[in-house]
Amino acid sequence: MRLLEEKISADGKVLSDHVLKVDSFLNHQIDPQLMLEIGKEFARIFADDGITKIVTIESSGIAPAVMAGLYLNVPVIFARKRKSLTLVDDLLTASVHSFTKNETNEISVSNKYLNESDRVLIIDDFLANGEAALGLVKIVQQSGASVAGIGIVIEKSFQHGAQKLKDLGLRVESLARVASLSNGEVTFINENVEELI
Ligand code: 5GP
Repeated sequence: MRLLEEKISADGKVLSDHVLKVDSFLNHQIDPQLMLEIGKEFARIFADDGITKIVTIESSGIAPAVMAGLYLNVPVIFARKRKSLTLVDDLLTASVHSFTKNETNEISVSNKYLNESDRVLIIDDFLANGEAALGLVKIVQQSGASVAGIGIVIEKSFQHGAQKLKDLGLRVESLARVASLSNGEVTFINENVEELI
């Protein structure tokens, strides 16, 4: 997605060879207009997949997921990373190791909002080693619902998450695919070039 790549190039900060900071439009301050375009793009990609629910994880997955939910006209459920006082019954849970925080959290979703007839689109802000997305897949599968696909805003293709998910037979659609963060620069995988190869 050209607009997203331009935004990453203009405002993203490369913190190391492995970490990209996008606090100015996705992870802290949020650019609503860009989120709207991201939601529209996810909705276009998954338009014919009979999506009935979107599942994401707090907090940075929520903005793009809500916009996709707006365009697909389906509810959005976000997994919680911490136990909630009001969310206690019938929880679906999975253990997720955080790439950026280097800690393991139990994430949870109420069973009430997913059922066997649901076709779920999973959305997240970043894909690195695939832990967060895999946790969400496990939660959806526990409910008996099916995973229609995984929509990622920024995939770091030099890490192994996308391949891991694809090897499990899951469909992964990423709006920006980062090939490298070496030398403080963001390099993207260019779809058109890939098609020519
Ligand atoms: P994974 O579970 O795929 O290893 O990592 C994905 C999660 O870690 C995302 O939900 C995101 O919050 C965080 N993450 C991974 N890599 C980055 C990164 O380079 N920058 C930022 N801002 N978050 C990241």
